[in-house]
Amino acid sequence: MSGLWEEFTCQRCGRCCEKIGLPYDPSRVSMMAEFLKIPEEELITRYYGLLLPEGTSWISDDRKRTPCPFLEREGAGSRCAIYPVRPEGCRAFPLETRLGTGGVDCPGAALLSWRLRERGRLTPKEEAWLSRL
Ligand code: SF4
Ligand code: SF4
Repeated sequence: MSGLWEEFTCQRCGRCCEKIGLPYDPSRVSMMAEFLKIPEEELITRYYGLLLPEGTSWISDDRKRTPCPFLEREGAGSRCAIYPVRPEGCRAFPLETRLGTGGVDCPGAALLSWRLRERGRLTPKEEAWLSRL
């Protein structure tokens, strides 16, 4: 997949962050909380949903996660306010996500798809990715 990442250029449209929203990634919770200088419990209640009373679990509230609260608009483009600690799902989109672009009209994926089809000779990984679009 590394070859595909080298050829992929994010167009910074922010459509994935708007439509899919903020993914939950337990491995990033403490890093995100530290980055934002807030307690982990506050991170979950503020950006993910409702923390259950015992503090061991939480209920997702999609209105908090979608569009992603960390998406910042910059003219015609966008930026991620927590880029260095963004969840793994954000890093994986759109090349390593199970559902391809998940219904997001990703211009970076469209451009890469066009380039690959123009080239014609595809590796199995490229074929597999195109088949998921
Ligand atoms: S939808 Fe695609 S091009 Fe737009 S920000 Fe997301 S990854 Fe980048
Ligand atoms: S954390 Fe950043 S990259 Fe991930 S959805 Fe939010 S704005 Fe987009």
